[in-house]
Amino acid sequence: MIQAVRGTKDILPVDITKWHYIENIIRNITERYNYKEIRTPIFEKTEVFSRSIGENTDIVNKEMYTFNDKGGDSITLRPEQTAALIRSVIQNNLTNDISTLRLWYLGPYFRYERPQKGRLRQFHQFGVECIASPNPEADAEIILLANQLIKNLGINDYELQINSLGNEISRSNYRNKLVEYLTIHKNDLSEESKSRFETNPLRILDSKDDRDKSIIKNAPKIIDFLDEESSKHFESVKNLLDSTGVKYKIESDLVRGLDYYCHTVFEFRSSLLGAQDAFGGGGRYDGLIKQLGGKDAPAVGFAMGVERLILILDSLNVFNSNESKCDFFIVSSNEKYYSTALLISEELRNLNYNVINDLQRKSFKAQMREADKSGAKFCIIFAEDEFNRNSILVKNMKTGEQSEIKIENIKNTKF
Ligand code: AMP
Repeated sequence: MIQAVRGTKDILPVDITKWHYIENIIRNITERYNYKEIRTPIFEKTEVFSRSIGENTDIVNKEMYTFNDKGGDSITLRPEQTAALIRSVIQNNLTNDISTLRLWYLGPYFRYERPQKGRLRQFHQFGVECIASPNPEADAEIILLANQLIKNLGINDYELQINSLGNEISRSNYRNKLVEYLTIHKNDLSEESKSRFETNPLRILDSKDDRDKSIIKNAPKIIDFLDEESSKHFESVKNLLDSTGVKYKIESDLVRGLDYYCHTVFEFRSSLLGAQDAFGGGGRYDGLIKQLGGKDAPAVGFAMGVERLILILDSLNVFNSNESKCDFFIVSSNEKYYSTALLISEELRNLNYNVINDLQRKSFKAQMREADKSGAKFCIIFAEDEFNRNSILVKNMKTGEQSEIKIENIKNTKF
């Protein structure tokens, strides 16, 4: 038997209502904030990601699905959306005639990670990007949007963690101090952090390794290195969240994995998840659009993992499965009824009803059992005497009540 690729998952019909539930709320919330949907290709030229996410990040170094296509071009299955979205924004001049560009997306992403609960190699993200505002109000707007979405999904058990990485000057000052501190402790770092020390020392702050954690605890904090502009931005974001009643915790070691972030970074975590407790995260990326060849436009965004949202919602028993949508099951156990059965089915479907026909040519009894199992509200039964009177029987599956209805009157009957 051929199995699905490790780390990928079928979304089966029994689970699809969960996805629809989340997608409906996403559409509703993004509309209220006037964000417009964008869909970009699943694969891009590799440089879209390598030039933006950073050559020394885990994603680019270890996790990308990259291959040469038959024409010899290096192609990558998108590991995240922001870089590809910005490529599209630049290519299609979307920032030209609008002051603030508000976009959202939902789709599959690919990372070669070690699969575990809540961590897949093909997973789905919903996210938003707010482009062309350098102001803290934009940071606040997307955090508010995320917060609304989480609340509307019915999730209350979560924490919003925020931090600031400051502007380039602050980050570079901090990086020097951090490297100075880590140099003293270098021998005690985990092997992974030792290699990060050479390539991307800020990422050491993200480490979950206990040895690293005790060193990180006493490391200098980026927040103490913010220059005036960066401090002012962060203070404003916090004030806006305070005044809109959004609860948050300042997490001084939160850096997020990618190179393009500056100023505000944030993450949503829930104790209802296991080790992978982050279900969303984002931040400001003021330099990225210019870096990818566009105009100098600041931006801020976030992404949320749909599979992790489902894990949380499952643990809260939000979904009530097995709810049947079937209105009519048509029982027609003789070939002579088939064409009329099909005609009636079509008429009912044109009236927006959900109708099932037996396609197995089962016996009358077997079809009645099937009708029961389908959860249909009504069963339409073809029977000899009634059919000779140009009628069918309609059985209310809840009450068991049966009534005879003229075939020509079905269209006008209130069920
Ligand atoms: P990131 O930008 O990497 O923090 O990703 C944003 C969100 O996407 C995370 O908080 C997760 O909910 C989700 N996510 C990221 N990687 C994976 C993965 N490999 N499997 C499932 N969900 C993921």
